[in-house]
Amino acid sequence: MNELIWLNGDVMPLADAHVGVEDRGFQFADGVYEVIRLYDGRPFTLREHLERLERSAAGIRMKLALDRAGLTGEILRFIPRTSVRDGMIYLQSTRGCSARNHLFPKDCPPTLLFYARHLAPVDAPGEAEGVKLHTEPDERWKRWWVKATALLANVLAKNEAVAAGADEAVFLEGGVVTECSASNLFIVRGSKVITHPVGPKVLPGITRLVLFQIAAELGVEMIERPVRFDEAMSADGVFITSTTREIGWVKSWDGRTVGDGTCGAMTLRLHKALRERVLRDTDALVGAA
Ligand code: PLP
Repeated sequence: MNELIWLNGDVMPLADAHVGVEDRGFQFADGVYEVIRLYDGRPFTLREHLERLERSAAGIRMKLALDRAGLTGEILRFIPRTSVRDGMIYLQSTRGCSARNHLFPKDCPPTLLFYARHLAPVDAPGEAEGVKLHTEPDERWKRWWVKATALLANVLAKNEAVAAGADEAVFLEGGVVTECSASNLFIVRGSKVITHPVGPKVLPGITRLVLFQIAAELGVEMIERPVRFDEAMSADGVFITSTTREIGWVKSWDGRTVGDGTCGAMTLRLHKALRERVLRDTDALVGAA
């Protein structure tokens, strides 16, 4: 498959694209990124992702090569040039390529790139296999509101989870569960949904943000507070959210069955509403084009 990439203003085959050895993304993980879901060739919550990108870049005092309007235009023009309909845009910006030095380089143009990649469509709400979680110590830095490319702690944790026969790692710090290696975590208690506040230890997930909006529309009470491990393990239900998986209901955690081992009614209701929002918003984009 001939995949294309947009790199610093040029579109080329992904296989031909090169970034310098001294790019600070490569040497220092000095960069930020976004993953934006495409549904039938249309990006979902593009504005929200680009707003978070701007906050992330500001959070590491890095300039972006394009402003939001410029980047939106480039992405929307790029998508039809690729063959990807259901998939994602991976976008990354680094502080650029410069002689290796911890100090920020002066007058160095940042590196900006994005490309589209096919993903299998997400299963209909409630139809996916339940997720198996595995607990890992939270050894990450304390600026998780920045979506930084420095993901080594997440990479290690996810690999530990899979080695233990699970699908996703949940981070535990001081008895509190924060989030997962690549998703936000929610627990269901009766008619309430509880999740850790965003900030130092939790990424402000875009799916999480949409879920709060949906919950408000449905009249579902969402509570932001730290959740202790024991409380999470005895919850009626647990689910995780991310751009690529939407909502994943959790079947087991450290080998123990969660709830009654099925996708609970609350999780199903929220996922159905999220899917309706996806369809509404991605169609709305076509209408607006
Ligand atoms: N938390 C972490 C650590 C992540 O890496 C991700 C996504 O990659 C999320 C949460 C979910 O964020 P979003 O819903 O924006 O994909």
